[in-house]
Amino acid sequence: MNKQQLRDIYNRVFFIGAGASKQDRFPLTNELKYGVAWAVCKEEARLQPLKKHLRYLYNVQENTLKAGKAFWDRKLLADNSQQDDLGKLPDVTDLLSTLDWMIREESSFGPGLNTGKSEVSKSAIELAYIRDLIVQALCYSLGLYMELKDASTSCNFIEHVKPNDSIITTNWDLLLDAARDTKFGSKPEDYGTTGNVVLEGSTIHPCKKRPKLLKLHGSLSWRYCPRCQRLVIDPLHHVAGEREQNATCLCNCEYSELIVTPSFVREYRNVHLLTIWREALMTLARSPEWVFIGYSLPPDDIGIRTLLLKARCIRKDAGLKDPVVTIVTGSNRREETIKRYNGVFTNAKLYEKGDFGTFVSNGLL
Ligand SMILES: [Zn+2]
Repeated sequence: MNKQQLRDIYNRVFFIGAGASKQDRFPLTNELKYGVAWAVCKEEARLQPLKKHLRYLYNVQENTLKAGKAFWDRKLLADNSQQDDLGKLPDVTDLLSTLDWMIREESSFGPGLNTGKSEVSKSAIELAYIRDLIVQALCYSLGLYMELKDASTSCNFIEHVKPNDSIITTNWDLLLDAARDTKFGSKPEDYGTTGNVVLEGSTIHPCKKRPKLLKLHGSLSWRYCPRCQRLVIDPLHHVAGEREQNATCLCNCEYSELIVTPSFVREYRNVHLLTIWREALMTLARSPEWVFIGYSLPPDDIGIRTLLLKARCIRKDAGLKDPVVTIVTGSNRREETIKRYNGVFTNAKLYEKGDFGTFVSNGLL
C-alpha cells in the first residue's frame, strides 16, 4: 500500500497559521496597524473617536495616518516599500492589549479621551467603544484583501484536502473558506458550532462528506448577534467591519464582528468560539497526523499550546500513539521554529522539501 492509498483511509489535521495566508499576500499581524490607519482616513466620521484616541495616547498625527494609508494601498499592489512617517503608529497588538488591560481593571486614561458623546462618556464604556472601533477598522481595511484573485496556494491546497481531513486555523481571512466552499460546499455544522448558526451565500449542493473548517479566532465572513447569539456565516464574502448592509439581526439587535484580535490579554468566552475550540480538541485527539502550516507556535499562545497538549493526553489515555507532527514553514527561522515545537512534541519534524507552496505542489505529501 502506498502513501496516497494510506491517506485515503485515515484523517489528517491541517493546522493553518498566518504564514500560510502570507503566501497569498494576506497581511501579517505586524502590518495590521497600517490597515487601521487606512480605515481611519477612509471612514473619518465613523472612526473619529479612534482617531482622537490615537492622537491623545500615541501622538499619532494626520501625516502618520496618511502615510499608513498609503502603505496599505501600496501593499495591495505587492509594493512593500516603507515610508518614514510610520514610526509613531502603535502596533495593533500593543494597542488592543493596553485597552484590554484597562477594561479588565476598570481604570481610565483620564478626561482627555472623552469623546463628548453622553452614552460613551463613562471611561469603562468609552474604552470598550474604542476597542470596538479598532476591530471595525481592522475588519473594514482587510476587506480590500478579499478581492485577491490570485489566492492560488490556498485553492490548490484545498484541491488536495480529503473529505475526511480537517482544517483548524487561527486566520480570520476567507481564503480557505471560499476555496473549500467552491470545492465541497458548506453546511453550518462544518464550522464546529451549532445552535443559532445560519449559512448565507454558500454553494447550493454540498458534497456528502466535507472537511471541517474550525476557525479558532473567528472570521471576517461572520456576523454575530451579541444578544440572541445568532451566527451568520457567509463563506464567500467579507462581511465584518460593515455596519450598513444587513447589519441587523432578526431580533433587531445590531450585528458585531466575531474575531479574536491579537492581544496579550486574550479571552475566549464567546459561546461559538468555545464550542469550536472543543471541536478542535476532539478533532486533534482523533487524528493520527497533525500538519502545522505557517504557524510558529509562539510562546505566548498559551491557549493553543494547552489545546495541543490536551489533545495528545486524550490520545495517550485512549491507548493511541502520539500523533505524527510535521511542520511546514518558510525559509526564515526554520531552526528556531522546530526547536519551539520540539519543546512540546519531541517527535515533531520539519517538512524538508520546502515551504507551503512546495508542500501543495507535492500533493500534500
Ligand atoms: Zn439577534
